Amino acid sequence: MKTIVVIGGGITGLSAMHEFRKWREATGAAVRLLLIEASVQIGGKIQTVRHQQFVMETGADSIVARKMNDMDVIAELGLEDDVVYNTTGRSFIYAAGHLKPIPDDAVFGIPASMESLAKSTLVSAEGKVAALKDLYTKNETFTKDDSVGAFLEYFLGSELVEKQIAPVLSGVYSGNLNELTIASTLPFLIDYKEQYGSIIKGLEANKQKFRIGEKKFFSLKNGLGSLIDAFQASLTKELLLNTKVRRINKNNGRYRVHLDNQDMIEADYVVLSIPHTAAEPILDDPRLTEQFSGLKSNSLISVYVGFDVPDSVLPADGTGFITATTDELFCSACTWTSRKWEHTSKSGNLLVRLFYKSSHPSYASIKNLDHDDLLKVALSDIEKGLGITAEPVVNEITDWSGQMPIYSITHPKIVYALESIMADVFPGMILAGCSYYGVGISDCMKNGADSARKIIDLLKD
Ligand code: FAD
Repeated sequence: MKTIVVIGGGITGLSAMHEFRKWREATGAAVRLLLIEASVQIGGKIQTVRHQQFVMETGADSIVARKMNDMDVIAELGLEDDVVYNTTGRSFIYAAGHLKPIPDDAVFGIPASMESLAKSTLVSAEGKVAALKDLYTKNETFTKDDSVGAFLEYFLGSELVEKQIAPVLSGVYSGNLNELTIASTLPFLIDYKEQYGSIIKGLEANKQKFRIGEKKFFSLKNGLGSLIDAFQASLTKELLLNTKVRRINKNNGRYRVHLDNQDMIEADYVVLSIPHTAAEPILDDPRLTEQFSGLKSNSLISVYVGFDVPDSVLPADGTGFITATTDELFCSACTWTSRKWEHTSKSGNLLVRLFYKSSHPSYASIKNLDHDDLLKVALSDIEKGLGITAEPVVNEITDWSGQMPIYSITHPKIVYALESIMADVFPGMILAGCSYYGVGISDCMKNGADSARKIIDLLKD
């Protein structure tokens, strides 16, 4: 009987196991399946902490609704009645001591009409005049490989970019706009400039595509952790928890998977659904190591704070704010979780989540703080940003140092090289997960299932 080992019980590995199990049930194939997870619990970057009043997600909090493919799995696991959608609302930018709304009709902070530009409270009259250059200046030099920051600044002016666009766009793409290409962010902008003569007019003409304000994300009423619990319930005896894989060697056409408890498991096929930094020492191959070193990750600290204060103290309609990196707050963003996700606060009391990202200039000064000092920084940000001075009733801090993959311009080339080296050196073993094929939960679920199908195809041969 062939043995298939999945290493890493995050959403990618769990989705691979789910696909293998479905195939085995449908075909009656005689294979042994095993999932090995280093931690005491599965889920990886999806973990829900349930407090008597609040539901908090230490990592991911939602799934992009547009990618409906995931819903098959949600239904297969019997969770469709638990699906909840985000409340839509207004986002603010914290600037010069105030919360100012991101104007209506803006796409990633870029005005999508002249009215949107005119009504912005984030930019001065001079900044608005500077942005009019977009209407009468043709693009003669920029290509999709140029920096999106330089492109936007050239046509829309530095003030609009710095105060309104960069806070939104660099949050979405986790990086400095001057280091991100147009191709890897908003490639359609250069087409709009060509076709409509103006970025603003191009966005206005294509507004429907961006469907501003719609319910875009879903979660589960008891937290995303219930997705993980449902996967776990289906695994029964095929799960080894609290067991770290430390090395994999080839042996007579099979793999020897060495565990940190000194045990060894022989496998015919392996899905390695762990971050690339964890895969590198396990495989310990110089050609792979060279490629792995080109993959990059950022850091993030997530801080939840809950209060015995109704969330109606917050500006009506709002769901959170982001900060410009030039201001005095340490956080990059603050989500009003109890507003955005009703299921996270049973009493309607205020639960907020602050994100401290390594792309923020002040991250270096807070990244090594202990729990109590980090909480003080968060409470000070909450006081400055929201004017709330109440004592918190709960907090939950999670440090995701080096755990947020960022896909640089060379990413696709590196993944391609890794695939061909793996096929050569470790046939039947597949790299999977957020380090390579997309960081979103839906991307990881799809990649987990695709990886399983590749192995199933090999088994059929
Ligand atoms: P992981 O979740 O990292 O799982 C890998 C698993 O492998 C872990 O359980 C780990 O313990 C295990 N492992 C590691 N080494 C070994 C070893 N040697 N032996 C055995 N096991 C090992 N995505 C969204 O779509 N929506 C969001 O709202 C969202 N928000 C996010 C917020 C945060 C703070 C973070 C950190 C991520 C967020 N993401 C979000 C991204 C998404 O959560 C991840 O990309 C995804 O969950 C990664 O799944 P994975 O299975 O590939 O990897």
